[in-house]
Amino acid sequence: MSSIRIEEVKGGEEERRRISVHSHIRGLGVVNGKVEKIAGGFVGQVEAREAAAMVVKIIKAGKFSGKGVLIVGPPGTGKTALAIGIARELGADTPFVHLNAAEIYSVEIKKTEFLMRALRKAIGLRIREWRRVYEGVVKSIEFKYGKHPYNPYIQVPVGATVKLKTTDEEKILKVPQEIAAQLIELGISTGDVIMIDEETGRVIVEGQVQGEGEEQYDIYVKHRLEVPKGPVHKEKEITRFFTLHDLDLYQARQQGLVSAMLFGVFTEEKEIPSEVRNAVDNFVKETVDKGNGELIPGVLFVDDAHMLDIETWAFFTKAMEMEMSPIMIFATNRGITKIRGTDIEAPHGIPLDLLDRLIIIRTRPYNEDEVREIVSIRAREEGVKLDNDALDYLTKIGVENSLRYAIQLLTPAQIRAKEQNRSNVTKDDVEYVRKLFLSLRESVEYVKQHEELFLK
Ligand code: ATP
Repeated sequence: MSSIRIEEVKGGEEERRRISVHSHIRGLGVVNGKVEKIAGGFVGQVEAREAAAMVVKIIKAGKFSGKGVLIVGPPGTGKTALAIGIARELGADTPFVHLNAAEIYSVEIKKTEFLMRALRKAIGLRIREWRRVYEGVVKSIEFKYGKHPYNPYIQVPVGATVKLKTTDEEKILKVPQEIAAQLIELGISTGDVIMIDEETGRVIVEGQVQGEGEEQYDIYVKHRLEVPKGPVHKEKEITRFFTLHDLDLYQARQQGLVSAMLFGVFTEEKEIPSEVRNAVDNFVKETVDKGNGELIPGVLFVDDAHMLDIETWAFFTKAMEMEMSPIMIFATNRGITKIRGTDIEAPHGIPLDLLDRLIIIRTRPYNEDEVREIVSIRAREEGVKLDNDALDYLTKIGVENSLRYAIQLLTPAQIRAKEQNRSNVTKDDVEYVRKLFLSLRESVEYVKQHEELFLK
């Protein structure tokens, strides 16, 4: 085995937040080989989903190398959702990386380094290895409430009710209800037989521990369980998943380039040296060649692609030809426009040689019924109970303003309802928060009307 030792995967918080608005998208909604009108969390957009499902077939047949996808369509018509659907169809642990083209110009690291990271975050390695493990019965679980680093971890038997003092308030936690979701996610409940990795002390759960659900529940379960009485040693094959970027960071840390303490700072500011990436590439190759793991090309999704400049296009064109390359999906809502960094006009602002390699999929605006269905799926996903007239009103907002705006109003409306001691959201709640938060169209109009004042 190569010198790389790997311990833990930690997905980016930012990435998770971005994707969480699409958490209802579980695939492209293909049932018995056919795209269903409402399935997999998707509503309508059937033609685009059929095209996307075809792309998935081409990828699975290994015939997509050197190619990419371009999704064109008005804002809020599900371009991101479609790209996520493709990733989900490719497999449960397919990495998905979402970049907005504008981000490239605001990062503190070098542009090529930023792009390289994005690329490597979008390629996964699934490793299988044999590890010595302890086996025991779960007696209790340690967890803490909230994200604050100083919040203490506490140990309680599952099923108990505990009083927890967090930094600023006292909370009563009903353990079964509140952490149930986490435990289900970890696949653990009291009395279960679990295994603990001898080296790392981490719990080994069959299948991947994914999603973590922190944002939803704000409960942190520490991956350390009490194992009572003489644990049994066992050899067990375990599967772990890393992105090439995770491996780059571990390798950099191992080489002493960064201390664990400075890790966060390092990831934002410093460039990962090419020796580190070469070592990782060798490790990956070795692992795959020996049959100890496999590469999982993920999806790199670039939104507002018309904002990419000529250098970035050159980078992506080269990347598409590489042996290890993610599936690249670009999205735009622009027609003919200048390629950034040049005076050349091109369709979608994309250089022609690259455009030649892209398969183009179109998304169309939604009708009222589709907007209603999407809003109610999203409400269900977020646990928001909508009265019928609240749903009617949100549908109207979705049609007249934008789907995204209607969806964004769900959480504030729910908070308002709670403040009124109601569990259901009424039309009045929606009207209330609608006045507080402007839609994009309204904010632009507002600024236009008061331009004089803003400029003074
Ligand atoms: P933009 O061009 O502004 O980036 P977009 O075309 O990428 O927008 P999304 O962000 O995918 O649009 O869609 C807005 C919201 O609506 C998201 O929460 C998305 O998951 C949801 N959504 C869009 N289309 C559908 C659909 N057909 N079925 C279910 N949900 C959808």
